[in-house]
Amino acid sequence: MVATSPPAPPDWDYAPAPESADVVSIAPQYGLFIGGEFVPSADGGSFATLNPATEEPLAQVAQAGPQDVDRAVAAARRAYDGPWGATPGRDRAKYLYRIARVIQERAREFAVLESLDNGKPIRESRDVDVPLAAAHFFYYAGWADKLQHAGFGPGPRPVGVAGQVIPWNFPLLMAAWKLAPALAAGNTCVLKPAETTPLTALLLAEVIAEAGLPPGTVNVLTGDGATGAALVAQPGVDKIAFTGSTEVGKEIARTVAGTGKKLTLELGGKAANVVFDDAPLDQAVEGIVNGIFFNQGHVCCAGSRLLVQESVADTVLDRLKRRLGTLRLGDPLDKNTDIGAINSRQQLDKITELSAAGEQEGAERWSPACALPDRGYWFPPTVFSGVSQAHRIAREEIFGPVLSVLTFRTPEEAVAKANNTPYGLSAGIWTEKGSRIFWMAQHLRAGVIWANTYNRFDPASPFGGYQESGFGREGGRHGLAGYLDA
Ligand code: NDP
Repeated sequence: MVATSPPAPPDWDYAPAPESADVVSIAPQYGLFIGGEFVPSADGGSFATLNPATEEPLAQVAQAGPQDVDRAVAAARRAYDGPWGATPGRDRAKYLYRIARVIQERAREFAVLESLDNGKPIRESRDVDVPLAAAHFFYYAGWADKLQHAGFGPGPRPVGVAGQVIPWNFPLLMAAWKLAPALAAGNTCVLKPAETTPLTALLLAEVIAEAGLPPGTVNVLTGDGATGAALVAQPGVDKIAFTGSTEVGKEIARTVAGTGKKLTLELGGKAANVVFDDAPLDQAVEGIVNGIFFNQGHVCCAGSRLLVQESVADTVLDRLKRRLGTLRLGDPLDKNTDIGAINSRQQLDKITELSAAGEQEGAERWSPACALPDRGYWFPPTVFSGVSQAHRIAREEIFGPVLSVLTFRTPEEAVAKANNTPYGLSAGIWTEKGSRIFWMAQHLRAGVIWANTYNRFDPASPFGGYQESGFGREGGRHGLAGYLDA
């Protein structure tokens, strides 16, 4: 018999599977949503929102100034003192159900618009952001007529007008996290979406109008940081809810101090994802990938610090690298894409700068071979090994697809390293021992702890942090507390 070499493996590749952008119609110009209608800003100012995957402008969006903030807060106050304040919980529930149903009906449109404006893969906007946003409205619809049973005393009252400032990483979902509990509790809202991702909040405003909520119950002010700051400082606002950077959160806390405004802050994180040597390693590798590469790592609770037990560190790193080699980076609208675009030039610069600092400080940098598109904002999945606790990439929130790998020998060392951060938002534990999970969960200082999984979200489950990750909880019964004067 003649020995022959095995045939070369077929060069399998995925055929392109793009979701059609035709399901959304994007207007060339958007106004502010105040008092139930879309209106231009008082000074006529506007700015462009871009598709970060192509750098092409998608639309011009009105820039709200202080006069617009006053108008929106006045509209919210009229709705609160008027029709929305007089709407009983059982009817508020119906409105919330209606919003949830319309989001479901228009899910494809929301998902495509989110991917276009944010750069996240359609797989994620379609399967995570949009269904979870609808689920939040459904969940809080259930609470609207049961507030007296929520554990906040017999007659909890709404706070009044809520000013809500949200970031760009989960634009629609963060709007749902803010609006659903506020409306269920009987408040009216003025929402400020992030400058780079205003479009799904504006589509949500359209849905809210379609659902028939009284004018002024929800107002949406597009704009930049100055718009957010004006909303926070507006004296007619009774409660501020903010999600974003720790730096801006601190500034907001200083503005609000002494005003009597209620405040909840959901800020940054630098979570440890801790893998013990008895963990199911293939599952853990999937959890590590989901923990830091989901949404390009633009996740406040991302597992950005991998703490792996020394005895399995080489194995985990090998398997992780092999797995990262299979991730597909590119067109966010392609259903096979795992890693989409970075949301903005500014964020790309920040990720680039911090990654360069990682190399300069002596950590070993690795990325799989992957071609980056010529246009748009892109960063390859990146792993740093040999990271020490003093390195900037182990301490600072990178908010991008960059993983810092550290090792430990004992559970005590894992806890000490995991807790060695000014943040305290989330953590992950991978081990087969239930007792170890409980021991670790008792010792880790983090608001959310996942065991043998990562990045699981449910509207019934409270989410929030300690220390520089902020205070207050969103989601679950706890999420109502910030919107009730109990
Ligand atoms: P910011 O905290 O600046 O933005 C969050 C929201 O606050 C946006 O709507 C922003 O408006 C608004 N805002 C900005 N300045 C003020 C202000 N002074 N008063 C009131 N509102 C304000 O986050 P960035 O988008 O600038 O991101 C910077 C870093 O923050 C990221 O690299 C990441 O590390 C972290 N981050 C953390 C998030 C989290 O979920 N924990 C979410 C987003 C960012 P505008 O968009 O117009 O600037």
